[in-house]
Amino acid sequence: MLSDEKRRKEYDEARSLFGGGFRVPTGQRPGQGGFGGFDLGDIFSGTGDGGGGLGDLFGTVFNRGGRTNTAQNRARRGADVETETTLTFGDAIDGTTVALRLTGEGPCPVCHGTGAKAGTMPRVCPTCNGTGQSSRNLGSFGISEPCKDCHGRGLVVDDPCPECSGSGRAMSSRTIQARIPAGVADGQRIKLAAKGAPGERGGPAGDLYVRVHVKPHPVFGRSGANLTVTVPVTFAELTLGAEVKVPSHRGAPVTIRIPPGTPNRRTFTVRGKGVRRKDGTTGNMLATVEVMVPKDLNSKARSAIEELREATAGQDPREELLERAKEA
Ligand SMILES: [Zn+2]
Ligand SMILES: [Zn+2]
Repeated sequence: MLSDEKRRKEYDEARSLFGGGFRVPTGQRPGQGGFGGFDLGDIFSGTGDGGGGLGDLFGTVFNRGGRTNTAQNRARRGADVETETTLTFGDAIDGTTVALRLTGEGPCPVCHGTGAKAGTMPRVCPTCNGTGQSSRNLGSFGISEPCKDCHGRGLVVDDPCPECSGSGRAMSSRTIQARIPAGVADGQRIKLAAKGAPGERGGPAGDLYVRVHVKPHPVFGRSGANLTVTVPVTFAELTLGAEVKVPSHRGAPVTIRIPPGTPNRRTFTVRGKGVRRKDGTTGNMLATVEVMVPKDLNSKARSAIEELREATAGQDPREELLERAKEA
């Protein structure tokens, strides 16, 4: 890019003008370090907005449009922001829009981030010529560190903005509407691109991460895309078989058929009554039957149970247990 002799000369002139503070940022991220993140390629390629050249360099460095091109004056991506929200069980399944109040640090609204009192401007730090860096020579090599006079900002403020005490930063809060997709689970973290802190000087916004908490439902649970429910049944229903109604989430109850001789805690699958997935398919409802043992019995029921006990007296349900316990 320095093939053009004339521009090469301009480059050398500029270099001497800025007392060595002007250097190609090697091994650094674009926009970090160097001469205020200033890209030499822009000067010498002739593709810059002023057609390149030294005139453009001066225009950029010194207050063109009332701005200074220093460490504080480069496009910067907004910060990523993390927040959390609590959803009802149903909203987590169906998806919803929530209002999120975000508090974060941004440019001071009074001085627009300059840190200077109204009617004044910060000036380029004379110590570091606006680079925000100072170089020290230690024998044969030099080290670079943040300028002590401007703390790396590249600017010094003579009359600080009373609102932010010259920092140029202020806490502010804003409310945004965030779309929470259907089917989120408790503890899930959702990324909302470009909904974080606004960028500065034309930089892109950061991302917003929302940690979702889901309130428990009194009846239903979640297992991925499946809903779970525990269904109380009687011993007679499991033994003799029955048709029982079980609730479904946001729908009419469904009937499941319990075959005779069903063990306690068996889980029945009700297809398509779960949570809708991203791909459009829907999970199932898993209904687990659980025997309820009555605390109080009327006399008729009590004598029937007593009759059952007599009728099954020969059957010891623990026989196998005791036998197998003897195995090595
Ligand atoms: Zn301010
Ligand atoms: Zn400085």
